[in-house]
Amino acid sequence: MTDDDHASEASETPGGVVGDGTGTAGAANTAGAADDGANGPSDETEETPATETFPGGYARATVSALPDAPNPTRGKREVDEAVGASQFGCNLFVADPGEQLPWGYHHHPDHEELFYVLAGELRVETDNGDRRVTAGQVFFVPAGAGNRARAVGDRRARVLAVGAPKASDGAVISEPCPACGAETDRTADRDGDAYVLSCADCGTETDRFGAGPEA
Ligand SMILES: [Zn+2]
Repeated sequence: MTDDDHASEASETPGGVVGDGTGTAGAANTAGAADDGANGPSDETEETPATETFPGGYARATVSALPDAPNPTRGKREVDEAVGASQFGCNLFVADPGEQLPWGYHHHPDHEELFYVLAGELRVETDNGDRRVTAGQVFFVPAGAGNRARAVGDRRARVLAVGAPKASDGAVISEPCPACGAETDRTADRDGDAYVLSCADCGTETDRFGAGPEA
């Protein structure tokens, strides 16, 4: 086992199993990194950047060090953007119970999604009922199918979401507008560090969210 292998296991395994809002994962990660440094040569340094690229197009990212993207959840790390993936989307969500992951009830006309629940629990609204997805399970959403995932239960959820193809990741939101009453799509505009969603029909602002407190 190389130092690299050790480092990735130390940072991923505790985060998925016990890193559920207890703070244990952070302590374990710190200890693991310190051990690696003391055990011998490695290409890790104290100042390892969030994303590193290597000859040939390879890339390595430290997910916890990536910037937090504005989203309804307390944390969203855009892994695909960090490593330069062009064919699929990949995001890590950290959500407190009650927080929804996407911007609204939506579908992607030509884009498949998969949610892997690493910790906590999701309730996913679909076109034909709600589905519970617990830690260790994945939930697949085919192209064109409506969905909205929300963290439920009494634990902080950690969810890895992947989708493809990335080029067709545009979403169509379908939600009642509180102003005009119609079931409408939303437009999104950037306002400083926040995203502002507005009804596509009447223009009324319906949602506003920024980066989370932590992930
Ligand atoms: Zn409206």
